[in-house]
Amino acid sequence: MVEDCIFCKIIDKKIPARFEYEDSELVAIQDIHPQAPVHLLVIPRKHISDINAAQESDCKLLGGLIHRAKLLAQHKKVEDGYRLVLNNGSKAGQSVFHVHLHLLGGRPMTWPPG
Ligand code: 5GP
Ligand code: ZN
Repeated sequence: MVEDCIFCKIIDKKIPARFEYEDSELVAIQDIHPQAPVHLLVIPRKHISDINAAQESDCKLLGGLIHRAKLLAQHKKVEDGYRLVLNNGSKAGQSVFHVHLHLLGGRPMTWPPG
């Protein structure tokens, strides 16, 4: 638990969120400002500020985020088209510095992203 990290506080149930899934390694919550009909955040319990701070020993944990996102996409019935986004660094749009994978689905997506 890192002080002043909003996702650590959510994981610790110190502030509320709508949980979709949780296990010993990660949680999935609904984004507070959804950008698509389905917009979940898959978040490791371990505080890793961004991908630059990730270690090789985190590979299984980070791969687990993708696997869980796939299962959640199926659960939410958007498996025919969804986008997984991992913003890294403020220039790329990262605003919460605790690694998280966005799962967006339920509407057409355009490319390139903004
Ligand atoms: P980023 O911009 O870092 O890639 O994504 C952070 C995401 O966290 C944003 O989509 C934002 O809406 C979401 N978010 C920020 N604060 C909260 C919060 O307190 N609760 C929830 N559920 N989502 C949050
Ligand atoms: Zn954190």
